[in-house]
Amino acid sequence: MSSDQSIEEVIIIGSGPAGWTAGIYTARADLNPVLFEGALSMENQEAGTLPMGQLAQTTEVENYPGFPSGQLDQYLETALTADRFGMLIPGENMITGPGLVELMRQQAINFGTRIVSADIVSVDFQVRPFRLTDSEGKVWQARSVIVATGASANYLHLESETRFKNFGVSACAVCDGALPRFRNHPVAVIGGGDSAVEEAGYLSRFASSVYIVHRRDQLRASQAMVRRIAENPRIKILWNRIPEEILGNDSDGVTGIRLRSTVQEDPMTLDVSGVFLAIGHTPNTGFLAGQLELTEKGFIKRPVPFRTNTSVPGVFTAGDVADDHYQQAITAAGTGCMAALDVGHYLASLDTETK
Ligand code: NAP
Repeated sequence: MSSDQSIEEVIIIGSGPAGWTAGIYTARADLNPVLFEGALSMENQEAGTLPMGQLAQTTEVENYPGFPSGQLDQYLETALTADRFGMLIPGENMITGPGLVELMRQQAINFGTRIVSADIVSVDFQVRPFRLTDSEGKVWQARSVIVATGASANYLHLESETRFKNFGVSACAVCDGALPRFRNHPVAVIGGGDSAVEEAGYLSRFASSVYIVHRRDQLRASQAMVRRIAENPRIKILWNRIPEEILGNDSDGVTGIRLRSTVQEDPMTLDVSGVFLAIGHTPNTGFLAGQLELTEKGFIKRPVPFRTNTSVPGVFTAGDVADDHYQQAITAAGTGCMAALDVGHYLASLDTETK
């Protein structure tokens, strides 16, 4: 294991809207930030980390201020370098999640944010400067840290779900929805929130029909999202149902799903070739190993109202890893800005103390 002797002013962990905004602000404040964006590897995906954040897994984004609908392709071509285009999915007439987060990344680079394509796998917040170890085994030292590691998709924890993961079971419609196994076949989306509705809309481009399976008789999704699918003849909602078992075999993968009723009706079976989970997310805090206080729901605790401080002075947090309520790209970006400003004040106060 090698140790880098230089001490960074600020290290940012995470590459969603919160991380990139913190990068833009700390770079503009001449704090020369280092941002860990994660590594795009299978190992990483299995460990639950998500380079470029959940925004990179969505489709069109119509509620991020500054990006009204219109042909944005030409703008993307002038703003991004050609090597990043492979990451994008084409938007019909709106900015997409992957496009938006690529623009944020480029903006952070333009101001001098240094990017490391690795994960932070462990931290020591008991010492000053803080010590952080990355997935390549390198140890970094920093006077301040912003944790913006977001949240990862939840699963149902059925044995059959694990068996058919990546063989018909997915938690990312945008990543997997266009695969041949789902094209022109019926699929199911589990959940009743904005993600379920958004994923159903996206999947209806490829699948012959899409069932939204929801455990209650009312969607949690916002009206604006529901309107998007209301007239879609390929989408059907099955109310008061929960998956009991995912059906399939070794050669075909998923072939169906058995649903139990939450209102004492008979179980039913659906013939589907895919099951997409959209049942919420769990914050990515495992690498912290208990060194920051968490809330009852497992999000990083922010002890000072309207500030991004954590339980350890000098460690700040932003985005979904500390937000069990709003969880929007714009709120993540907003808290990324707040964390950057809080870091600036914190470092200035340390400098005053030592003078
Ligand atoms: P969510 O709002 O927490 O919804 C999760 C859904 O899954 C709920 O309908 C929940 O049912 C259901 N569920 C949870 N556990 C379940 C289980 N074990 N079995 C069956 N169903 C289960 O999560 P989300 O849809 O991922 O959205 C997260 C946040 O991101 C929200 O704030 C949302 O507004 C935001 N988001 C925004 C956009 C957008 O604006 N474009 C798009 C996607 C997400 P109950 O309703 O019964 O609890």
